[in-house]
Formats: sequence, C-alpha cells, structure tokens
Amino acid sequence: MKTFACGDVVPGCDATWVCDSEDDVLHAVAIHARDDHGLIEVPADLVAAVRSQIRDVA
Ligand SMILES: [Zn+2]
Repeated sequence: MKTFACGDVVPGCDATWVCDSEDDVLHAVAIHARDDHGLIEVPADLVAAVRSQIRDVA
C-alpha cells in the first residue's frame, strides 16, 4: 500500500490517502487538487513533488 499526505506538499491541507498503488494515489490527488485546490491540471513539478512524498505503508 502507498500513502500520501497532501500537507507534505501543500502546507495546511490535512487530506491523506492510502491506496493500492502509486498511480491510484496520484489519481486521487489529481481529483483532490482540482476540487479542493482549484487546479484544473496538476503541473509536472507538483506530480514530481507528490511522487517524492508517497510512502510505503503495510
Ligand atoms: Zn490538499
């Protein structure tokens, strides 16, 4: 399982996810970024930042 906390990239955001794969996390984050942060598209550098903060969880 993979976990990601939006607050690691966007200070003050308390959204977190636990998904089966990194791609699932990125998909969920993209929806969250659009709905909660107003980002129509997630820029490549933000995707890279998200990927760097995704952690393995048992
Ligand atoms: Zn967020």
